[in-house]
Amino acid sequence: MNLAIFDIDGTLLKSTGVDDQCLTSAFRKVYGLDLPELDWADFSHSTDQGLSVEVCERWAGRSPLEAEIETVKRVFVDLLRAQIEAQPERCTSVPGVHAMLDVLRNLPNWAIGVASGAWAESAAVKLAAASVALGELPATFSHARRDGRPALREEIIEATIHRIAEGRLDGDASVIRKVVYVGDGVWDDRATRNLGIGFVGMRHDRQEDRLRAEGAREILHDFADVNRVIETLERAMPPVAASTYQASV
Ligand SMILES: [Mg+2]
Repeated sequence: MNLAIFDIDGTLLKSTGVDDQCLTSAFRKVYGLDLPELDWADFSHSTDQGLSVEVCERWAGRSPLEAEIETVKRVFVDLLRAQIEAQPERCTSVPGVHAMLDVLRNLPNWAIGVASGAWAESAAVKLAAASVALGELPATFSHARRDGRPALREEIIEATIHRIAEGRLDGDASVIRKVVYVGDGVWDDRATRNLGIGFVGMRHDRQEDRLRAEGAREILHDFADVNRVIETLERAMPPVAASTYQASV
C-alpha cells in the first residue's frame, strides 16, 4: 500500500495569504506586539500551535499561557471567518482537488490522509469556504502534545500515517510500501527529509525556487490532471539534501 498525505494551506487550498494575515493579526492583538512582516520559513515551528508559542517567546521574551494560546486561536478563527466572508476569493480550492481526492480515495493501492499545520478549528472554516470535504479521511491538525509541547510537523504526519494504518490496514503498518507528503512550504520539504519519506511540492503560484533549493524533486502546480498527479506520487522520493541540490545545478 502507498500512502499520500496532504497538507491543506497552499496545497489543497489557495488560502495562505488570508491565513498568514489573520494569524499575524491575532498575535498582534492577543500578545500586544508590534510585529514586523513575518516569514514563517525563519521559524523552527511550522504549525499554528508552534508559531503561537515561538512568536511570544521571541518578541515578548516569555512563554505564552495556555489560555493565551486559546485566545489567539479564537481571535484568529473569528478574523479568518470575517475575512473569508468579505473576500471569498482569498480561500478557494486548488484546481482539480475534488476530482483528485475522489480518484485517489478509490484506488486499491493508495490510501490518503491529511496532515496540516493548521488548527482543526481554522482548517474547518477554510475547507468549508472552499467546499472541500475531507469526510472520513484520516486527518491530523496542529495541536499540543500531552506534555504541552506543540507537535512538530513530522509528528503530525506520523500521526496520520498511524491513523491510516489503523483505519485501512488493520493496524499492519508493514504493508506500507511508500509514504508521500504533498506540501507547499520549505518546512514540508524539511519534514519529509527528516522522516525519509517522499515529497511532492505544490506551488499553485509556480514560485517553486525555495522548494527546489530545499531539495524538492517533484513539483505540481495543480491537481487538474489526475494521472499526472498519480505518476508524480509514484515517482516521489525524499528531498535531496539542500547542499547536494545546490552543488548539482
Ligand atoms: Mg501549507
